[in-house]
Amino acid sequence: MAFENLSDKLQNVFKNLRSKGRLTEADVKAALKEVKMALLEADVNFKVVKQFIKAVQERAIGQDVMNGLNPGQMVIKIVNEEMVALMGNETTEIALKPGNEITIIMMVGLQGAGKTTTTAKLAGLFKKKGRKPLLAACDIYRPAAIQQLHINGEKQGVEVFSMGDKNKPVDIAKAAVEHASKNGYNTLIIDTAGRLHVDESMMEELQELKKNIQIDQCILVVDAMTGQDAVNVSETFNEKIGIDGVILTKLDGDTRGGAALSIRSVTGRPILYVGMGEKLTDLEQFYPDRMASRILG
Ligand code: GDP
Repeated sequence: MAFENLSDKLQNVFKNLRSKGRLTEADVKAALKEVKMALLEADVNFKVVKQFIKAVQERAIGQDVMNGLNPGQMVIKIVNEEMVALMGNETTEIALKPGNEITIIMMVGLQGAGKTTTTAKLAGLFKKKGRKPLLAACDIYRPAAIQQLHINGEKQGVEVFSMGDKNKPVDIAKAAVEHASKNGYNTLIIDTAGRLHVDESMMEELQELKKNIQIDQCILVVDAMTGQDAVNVSETFNEKIGIDGVILTKLDGDTRGGAALSIRSVTGRPILYVGMGEKLTDLEQFYPDRMASRILG
């Protein structure tokens, strides 16, 4: 299960804190040192860990906390609050235009991150909300990506617009926009091509799409299992393309959790949803407070 190691370690630190009636400055510092180690081992970005520990320490080492009734509990509360803050405090919704106006969402990410699956998952969610989603298959390179989108779209009862793999993605996307507006769709989700690694041609293709299509939301899909890499990928995509939010997949796996804690702080962009499995219903809204509770146990 995700975060298992991190949770275990933090719970140990907290148990020690709770068992102490009074806390000295040295007690707090020692406990935070252990928290720091646990976060680093969980693959949380180094700079993020440093800032986090500093913020907790500044609040925890003070007369109010140390002389309070239950100082251990207070420190734990501060760790919790700062962790929620690290992940952006509030849940961020994908902004959708009202009525028949089309919201265009472009899905980007590396191959294997779960982009095509997540695209279909999102379409299902939007449909449930009463939107009229259309999927556009612009991943013309990965064999079977178009077919995979068709199969998943069908499972979700959502139409998939495709033109095979012989047209340029930007032309397919333009045609998809036209198809959406002619047929009363108000939410167009474009599945784009990923590569195994960040490369220039992928970025150029995405930049061209962004330049030619009125993209309202660019959503990056990253794989939580890749830890620090997921964070680096987020940073690069944000610099090169500009992203509005991130969907973190495979949180159901045995991930150490670093990406969930680092992405917001490093990129300034929120995590919108998390992928919790391979089924098309396994997509959950991201709640920073619930995630922190899960991590802290
Ligand atoms: P793409 O290359 O980015 O389009 O990736 P795919 O959508 O084809 O997904 C790659 C693999 O990851 C597939 O086997 C998916 O079933 C799997 N996958 C996607 N999201 C999740 C998730 O949240 N949890 C798990 N366990 N597997 C996922």
